[in-house]
Amino acid sequence: MSQLEIPEFLDYASWSEALKDGTLLGQECADCGHQTAAPKAACVRCGSRDISTVELETTGEVYSESTIAVSPIGFDAGFQIAIVQLGEAKTVGRVSDDVEIGDTVTLSDVFEHEGQPSPVFESVEE
Ligand SMILES: [Zn+2]
Repeated sequence: MSQLEIPEFLDYASWSEALKDGTLLGQECADCGHQTAAPKAACVRCGSRDISTVELETTGEVYSESTIAVSPIGFDAGFQIAIVQLGEAKTVGRVSDDVEIGDTVTLSDVFEHEGQPSPVFESVEE
């Protein structure tokens, strides 16, 4: 990882800057321990505002997957997305190869559309 500074309060700009750098940032709630993989103003589980920025694991397990057959304008048709469990947090990303629920995947790339990054995962041979 580079000399990325982890901001005390995570906003979209610092989240996407970190992701472009290959680092997944999330938030952890001091009150209930819930982790999210995207910036939120308050804990989505308990509503606490006592949340801090954490660096998430970049390898995790496919929690759910789906193939987008009819893509939004500007996207290639037919790509697979997955919800990936990274430690305590879950994130949504593209997957670069065929994955199934339970597969281990790792952050391999960043897909950018109109300046907005999203994580790309690929499966890890076990
Ligand atoms: Zn909480």
